[in-house]
Amino acid sequence: MNRALRCVRGSIIVAAIFVAFTVGMAGAAEGDPAVLALMDQINQQLAGTGTNLAVEQIEFFTIGEGRPSNRIHQQPFRWVAGDPRRLADGDNITYLVDQSDGATASGVTSAQTEAAIDSALNTWDADSCLKKVDIVKRADGGADPDIFDSFFGFGGFGDPFLADIVDAGWLPRAFFEAVGGPGGGRGILAFSVTFIFIDPSTGEPTDINGDNYLDSALNEVYYNDNFGDPAGDRAGNPWGIDIVLPGIDVETVGLHENGHSLELGHFGPPPNAVMNPRYAGIRHAPLPPDHAGMCAVWASWPK
Ligand SMILES: [Zn+2]
Repeated sequence: MNRALRCVRGSIIVAAIFVAFTVGMAGAAEGDPAVLALMDQINQQLAGTGTNLAVEQIEFFTIGEGRPSNRIHQQPFRWVAGDPRRLADGDNITYLVDQSDGATASGVTSAQTEAAIDSALNTWDADSCLKKVDIVKRADGGADPDIFDSFFGFGGFGDPFLADIVDAGWLPRAFFEAVGGPGGGRGILAFSVTFIFIDPSTGEPTDINGDNYLDSALNEVYYNDNFGDPAGDRAGNPWGIDIVLPGIDVETVGLHENGHSLELGHFGPPPNAVMNPRYAGIRHAPLPPDHAGMCAVWASWPK
């Protein structure tokens, strides 16, 4: 084989390997390619720091058009009871409401949004399928409790282990446009982002308790402050407390988002559920599919 031909053959083999690799990647990851590319960039940045964290899933809750779920691996993830890597509070799941971004441009105070989010978490805690787990509030001590916003220039890289779940507050339209892409600032009410643990030496996800689920590391929830901002393009859909459509009820969105934090995915409609991917007015109590979903997730929790 002459040298030129060998070179061409080599290029074809390299190209074939590259195609196989990218097809393999596409087969595993699922969602909006642009969002998955962002997640991949974040994970490359994280890997460069030698951390054991990787972003795994982003779920958007929208008004109007729905958006796909975005996740890196096909294998699902779960919290691990007592996981020392996230400084777990035994068998409890902890949450924190970030007070620094708690007020909305529509005039809801930080104390009001905190109370509505507390109410949402208390609702999940009271569900009979969560009887083996206690959902415990951690006070906001003022330190930055979240990290995902830092990758987009909307906050610092905080302490990721102040609580398992962080309700990170109301951020500007531009943040949602940056994360969700064009239209995100106008369509996304809130989103949940879950990080999992990886082995920093291999980059592979871990399953330390052998339950065939990847290990959740932390979950953050971000709310879009464009809704009800008098200067924005969603001024007609203000955040409020027990507000009906076209207003957006904080507790309803908090219940949905913290349903993700407790590892429910989207379903329906039909059937109607708190975990429907699009906002449909006030829902302050789990519906049968939400309850069934929680039973499936939490049945094997130790205790
Ligand atoms: Zn959702």
